[in-house]
Amino acid sequence: MLIVKKFGGSSVADKERIYNVAKRCIEDYKKGHDVIIVLSAMGKTTDGLIAQAKEINPCASKRELDMLLTTGEQISVALMSMAMDALGVPAISLNAFQVAMRTTRKYGNSRLKKIDTDRIKHELDARKIVIVTGFQGINRYDDYTTLGRGGSDTTAVALAAALHADACEIYTDVEGVYTADPRIVPNAKKINEITYDEMLELATLGAKVLHNRSVEMAKKYGVPLVVRSSLNRASGTVVKEEVRMERMLISGVAADKNATRVSVIGLKDEPGIAFKLFNLLAKNNINVDIILQSVGRDGTKDISFTVAQDDAKETIDLIEDNKNRITAQRVECETDVAKVSVVGAGMTSNPGVAAKMFESLYNVGVNIKMISTSEIKVTVLIDQKNVDKAMQAVHDAFGLGE
Ligand code: ADP
Ligand code: ASP
Ligand code: MG
Repeated sequence: MLIVKKFGGSSVADKERIYNVAKRCIEDYKKGHDVIIVLSAMGKTTDGLIAQAKEINPCASKRELDMLLTTGEQISVALMSMAMDALGVPAISLNAFQVAMRTTRKYGNSRLKKIDTDRIKHELDARKIVIVTGFQGINRYDDYTTLGRGGSDTTAVALAAALHADACEIYTDVEGVYTADPRIVPNAKKINEITYDEMLELATLGAKVLHNRSVEMAKKYGVPLVVRSSLNRASGTVVKEEVRMERMLISGVAADKNATRVSVIGLKDEPGIAFKLFNLLAKNNINVDIILQSVGRDGTKDISFTVAQDDAKETIDLIEDNKNRITAQRVECETDVAKVSVVGAGMTSNPGVAAKMFESLYNVGVNIKMISTSEIKVTVLIDQKNVDKAMQAVHDAFGLGE
């Protein structure tokens, strides 16, 4: 069997944990399996590197930032290989260059395009455990790129897909995927099985237990995923196409603090204005989420929408620069907001979901700023300071807790 095992930052945070991971992987190796390990940077290394870069130059180029960030993963793979060696097991660490993991051009949020599997196969054939850096790739200029925060999950799934692995196991600091972030909602319940679609929605809406692109890729290539704890042997959560269990109405609640509300005020109330505004943003690769347009009055209207916090400055600058063309009088933004969502494939046919969510927020005095719904989710935008109590209230209203 070929097994890909991915361990997140907290699972390799110090010497004891590195040895814990090494020993766990050696168990599989000794059973005769081929083992590929994908690692994140140790503990909060990536945050530390970002802070260091900001100190030197708050406007550091994305290329140099990626050059810096990729060092984090390189440290963990090398140390892991040394631990394996100390335990008497042959292993080799490889970075994105050595494997040759090709990505798109973009720095900071690149997409994996092609993985050369020759080197890895060669090392596996030599009965070595292969330890690969997560989160990084190389682009057409042979520069390092990164896959976006949390991107090591995607590296693992991509390797599992490229090598037709029999299993892809994502080890983290919780026992699996829960009905809400167990650090915010203490009575959240572990989900035994979840579909790719529901997991993708939860991950996209802020449940960072899996990088959303890893789920997208797992679905595309039919890679069954298991999310479980690196600290104990609990069974974890299986992410796959179909789940056997009785379909639950709601699978979970997610929150995303990485949102900014942008309001464009005093636009002309005439055809083509929304097109001009959103076309401008699309051309600059800015992803827009919830959109709200006011009813026109006195020939003008306002349009509000949310963007990721990282894109907020660029969005405001773009609109300011194009104020006349899009007929805006002014643009405002609000950064201390957050999105809270309920997700569930079973809610398509249930009209009460949105109302129940709004009632639960009303009960804890949380004001809703914007709303967006789809077949599989309801999302509200609220003040960031209310996120924890909103999550708990919504979670309990749907009876998700233990
Ligand atoms: P790793 O470093 O292992 O990749 P992450 O911090 O990226 O770990 O992801 C694990 C964290 O995700 C957990 O510690 C938990 O706080 C958070 N999380 C958010 N939503 C969920 C959820 N629905 N289920 C489980 N964990 C969640
Ligand atoms: N080290 C990277 C991060 O902190 C990638 C990852 O952990 O998956 O975002
Ligand atoms: Mg992660």
